[in-house]
Amino acid sequence: MRIQASYLSLDNDLFLQKIEQAKKALDHCCLCKQSCAINRNLGELGACGAGINAEVAHWGIHKGEEPPFAGKGGAGAIFFSHCNLKCVYCQNFQISWQKQIKDSINPMQLGEIMLKLQMQGAQNIDLVSPTHFLPQIIEAIYLSRQQGLTLPIVYNTNAYESEAALALLSGIVDVYMPDFKYFNDSAAFQYSGIKNYVSTAKQAIKTMYDAVGDFTRDFQGRAYRGLFVRHLVLPENLASSFKVLDFLKQNIGVNIGLSIMSQYSPCYQAQRIDELNKKIDSVFYNKLVEYVEVLGFEQCWIQELKSSEIYFPDFQSSKVFVKE
Ligand code: SF4
Repeated sequence: MRIQASYLSLDNDLFLQKIEQAKKALDHCCLCKQSCAINRNLGELGACGAGINAEVAHWGIHKGEEPPFAGKGGAGAIFFSHCNLKCVYCQNFQISWQKQIKDSINPMQLGEIMLKLQMQGAQNIDLVSPTHFLPQIIEAIYLSRQQGLTLPIVYNTNAYESEAALALLSGIVDVYMPDFKYFNDSAAFQYSGIKNYVSTAKQAIKTMYDAVGDFTRDFQGRAYRGLFVRHLVLPENLASSFKVLDFLKQNIGVNIGLSIMSQYSPCYQAQRIDELNKKIDSVFYNKLVEYVEVLGFEQCWIQELKSSEIYFPDFQSSKVFVKE
């Protein structure tokens, strides 16, 4: 089977239409479910603080993602500044909220970064926290396609997208990599400052799955299409982790990719919150891992508990359930 990135076969006129629609969406920004409805084209700022230009905090070859994404070449990661969530335990808070390190760029410059990552041997374009810059990203992919970009697009997000935003991405994204952060709205509000997270994430993840299907890797084990869900375990089961797994099994299926992450560590503002100012419990975590096996997920990467002691953990020592 010939494998190629989805956007390479997207009709040129349709691509241009999507760019125009996406730019227009900034007149009344509802790209995510914060639904700020402000005019970013006129310089207004919403809850994420993102303006009219894309802002990149860091880009480069990233070896710390799960093996299907990092592989031999590494993920071609682009970390965008700002975020539409305000997680009190954010491990990327310097990127998301410390504005002095941002770098404001136009779509052509963003496309050049994608091409440089391809030249450096990246095996994908890994867009990290992208949704608030979705219009600029779509245009950048269009421009870099003309210059020879062929890598699959990985959309690494928090599942708080609006349906309109996901419709714009149809035919452009190859692998959706959403975090399913909580199955509890009051926890999502308390620790990430967002409303209606559970219903939004459920709908967004279903829509993502409808767009790209089961998680699929090539003969070298590199991700090239499908849905890959991440779940960060929080102390005291604040994320309602078992319910997240039940939902995925019952509503999406076991052929997705799944990553269970133990890397939680109380950083940023979490040290001031009793229930978050601790490590996750090993007994709880081991039960959750057993439950993943019982449910029968086919392709799982499970971090070992020691990952919480490493600031930027990788998955080299993760437990893997992969049915070939
Ligand atoms: S992307 Fe930013 S401005 Fe737009 S709705 Fe979300 S938080 Fe508000």
